[in-house]
Amino acid sequence: MDFSKYQKSTASVWAGETEPTADGAVTTPIVRSVAFAYTDLDEWHNVATGKADGYIYSRNTNPTVHVLEEKVRILEGAEAATSFATGMGAISNTLFALLGPGKRVVSLNDTYGGTSRLFLDFLPRYQVNVTLCDTTDFDRLETEIAAGCDVLYLETPTNPTLKIVDIKRLAAAAKNAGAITVVDNTFATPINQNPLALGADLVLHSATKFLGGHSDAMGGVLCGAKKLVEKVFQFREINGASLQADPAYLIARGMKTLELRIDRQNASALTIARYLKAHPKVSDVFYPGLDTHPGHAIAKAQMTGFGGILSFSLNGGYEAVKKFLPTLQFVHLAASLGSVSTLAGPPRTTSHVELTEDQRRQLGIPESLIRYSVGIENVDDLLTDLDTALASL
Ligand SMILES: *Cc1c(COP(=O)(O)O)cnc(C)c1O
Repeated sequence: MDFSKYQKSTASVWAGETEPTADGAVTTPIVRSVAFAYTDLDEWHNVATGKADGYIYSRNTNPTVHVLEEKVRILEGAEAATSFATGMGAISNTLFALLGPGKRVVSLNDTYGGTSRLFLDFLPRYQVNVTLCDTTDFDRLETEIAAGCDVLYLETPTNPTLKIVDIKRLAAAAKNAGAITVVDNTFATPINQNPLALGADLVLHSATKFLGGHSDAMGGVLCGAKKLVEKVFQFREINGASLQADPAYLIARGMKTLELRIDRQNASALTIARYLKAHPKVSDVFYPGLDTHPGHAIAKAQMTGFGGILSFSLNGGYEAVKKFLPTLQFVHLAASLGSVSTLAGPPRTTSHVELTEDQRRQLGIPESLIRYSVGIENVDDLLTDLDTALASL
């Protein structure tokens, strides 16, 4: 059945689900089998050589994992999808499969911390030429792309200051230069943003975050044109960063409520951002849904919702943060984001702990910044919680 002609909420529930299931089970079975048996040797050979659909060995593909890949593929409007053990598995396999000695990747200063490590520490070991630009300097990015580029790697909104990158404009520049555009769509989710429709060639997710949505499973997914996805799949199959059936099941189950969660999180984050913006003890609020955000116009053009993550800084610096955060009731003070429960933490001790104060300043990250990933709790309870904690300062 072709689910691409249905709405996202319908596809989230139905896409990829295999029927008939054993005994008419109405949920996808968790197929833990490592290998798949054949009685007909010709059929086995055809599946093993890719001439027929089927399963051979779970490092390559697995029926439960395939259900998740199908859901993300349909929501991103892609021809093909493949999955990985983690989001970083998706990112590293994609970059290592597409790049090599003498190739050039152009990207942003504000990519996810692990991605940034790949650019600065690991890819250069393999003679890959890496150029990182100021995240919102689109003129400079265009110049660097035109100077010769094999892969343009983007992320938007960025972590933790929610900068917005113009996907359409930069993907067009990459196309002119013969480069492949890859977008990390983790923060936006396919409910709020579809990079392939904006001209990107590949889109990837840390499925650990919003897609799974419950902080109980790790995974990554890559989608795009079949030829490109296959190239990365062939690398992952040998590299071995394969997703297991159990986390795939949990993520696919989480995805059935993706739109419900994202709609709630979009609305709550906007309400909370507006509340914080007006609060005298808050020095700055970063949320692309605020019309004062420098990327608001681009966000409005390329997103249908502004997402569930915001960040804000407090008057009183890091000392105020240390006092404020433990006072909150409905928050896990933890890394990660995109869960049903609200999660918060200072980039100074989480995502950007390895940088110096000076490096954080260069990225525009105040020492008193708090990243706040809004859960699905009642927004009035979250507002009361924030209000009480701010009053205690
Ligand atoms: C968490 C995250 C990743 C890495 O995903 P893991 O599943 O933790 O490996 C990549 N990109 C972004 C934007 C993330 O938030």
